[in-house]
Amino acid sequence: MRRRIVVLGASFAGLTAALQLGHHLGRDHDVIVVSRSDQFVFLPSLIWVPFGLRTPEDIMFSVPPLLEARGITFRRGTVTRLEPDARRVFVDDQTLDYDFLVIATGPRPHYGGVPGLGPHQGHTSSIYTLDEALAAQEDYVRLLEAPGPAIVGVAPGSSCFPIATEFALNLAHQLSRRGKTEAAPVTFVTPEPFVGHFGIGGFGRAGELLQAMFDKAGITTIVDAAITRVTPGTVELDDGRKLPYRFAAILPQLRGIEPVRAVEAITTPSGFVRVDALYRTETYPEVYACGVAVHIPPPGYTRVPCAVPRTGYLSEEMARVVAYNIAATIHGRRPVALPPSAIDAKYVLDAGNTGLIMSSDHFLEPRDHAWLIPGPEAHWAKVAFEKYFLATRRRGIV
Ligand SMILES: Cc1cc2nc3c(=O)[nH]c(=O)nc-3n(C[C@H](O)[C@H](O)[C@H](O)COP(=O)(O)OP(=O)(O)OC[C@H]3O[C@@H](n4cnc5c(N)ncnc54)[C@H](O)[C@@H]3O)c2cc1C
Repeated sequence: MRRRIVVLGASFAGLTAALQLGHHLGRDHDVIVVSRSDQFVFLPSLIWVPFGLRTPEDIMFSVPPLLEARGITFRRGTVTRLEPDARRVFVDDQTLDYDFLVIATGPRPHYGGVPGLGPHQGHTSSIYTLDEALAAQEDYVRLLEAPGPAIVGVAPGSSCFPIATEFALNLAHQLSRRGKTEAAPVTFVTPEPFVGHFGIGGFGRAGELLQAMFDKAGITTIVDAAITRVTPGTVELDDGRKLPYRFAAILPQLRGIEPVRAVEAITTPSGFVRVDALYRTETYPEVYACGVAVHIPPPGYTRVPCAVPRTGYLSEEMARVVAYNIAATIHGRRPVALPPSAIDAKYVLDAGNTGLIMSSDHFLEPRDHAWLIPGPEAHWAKVAFEKYFLATRRRGIV
């Protein structure tokens, strides 16, 4: 019997899931991808956009042609409602029925938790989306014209620790290149109990190595910090400190998108999808999720809440398992159980002209190993990976 699989989202998780479904199922079944954008944006390169090192064209490509060449339908539209009991979704004002659903809609930045936060209704910059990174470029240029204190931070409850770490180190590097280190001192403010904790309890010796990089770059670090309010020119912490700034880029807390969050039977209060080790929801076994849309419980206590980052590699690996398991269910084969904690971890953290390559057998503890390679080769590895990723994905190779 011909089945219809609807994939919501066309980024790291959705695109990988769709292409892998095409690979496993051929043209015997219908795969339909729905996304509100027909462009793929390579988000890891957003850390360079504010400095004018990348333009949008450098890091984007069009999704529909590479799906359509494989017999996969692309539908541009906004998902507005899920009705899992009826096995249908609403895309704009039309309905779409499915036999299997893959939720890969990522997060939406939530700036509302901290008064004054964010580039839309608040006073701070951000780099979570392309538009935000482009706006941050204007704020950075203003900083160069009239230097003063710069803050890079992470809001309480966020998971954006690696992104903020990279951006702080890149900002310090760019300011140093322009001889502005003293005129524009950088402070890094994070809920993490130590730099390199990343919301996952740390990663081998990453904490030690990153603290040394921060010290060398002249960045002041404030850990275990809860940003409670931002006013024009001041970031306030819950211990009463008021940090003055001329430039402040604060990464937000993330939530699931509204139509997903509304299906309370399968989501957390923040709107992330609760899945089993097969990436299925318990209530609706034909509904799967992958990528940032998936809830991963924090592995330990922190005074200021820290969420677990869902990195690009992790998102793609979850998507591969989802595609395999849907195909296995259709073909009557045994599915694979691989929870996020057991997926291997890969992340290259850039610091401008140096960095840190991180790799381990398991995303979360317990791990058998956590390899860390600090040095200039990490910067070049990040640049090379960007080129490799865009070249392969533009050709539909995942
Ligand atoms: C600045 C930045 C730097 C990063 N750096 C790294 C890095 O160096 N290494 C790394 O491993 N990871 C990095 N990440 C994380 C990585 O980008 C994410 O893991 C990845 O984007 C997750 O993919 P996803 O498909 O789950 O979600 P997303 O990439 O957020 O994609 C969500 C998809 O859903 C679609 N969508 C959302 N809402 C709707 C709706 N209502 N209707 C229809 N479609 C919808 C969107 O159009 C999009 O296609 C970075 C992220 C950022 C923001």
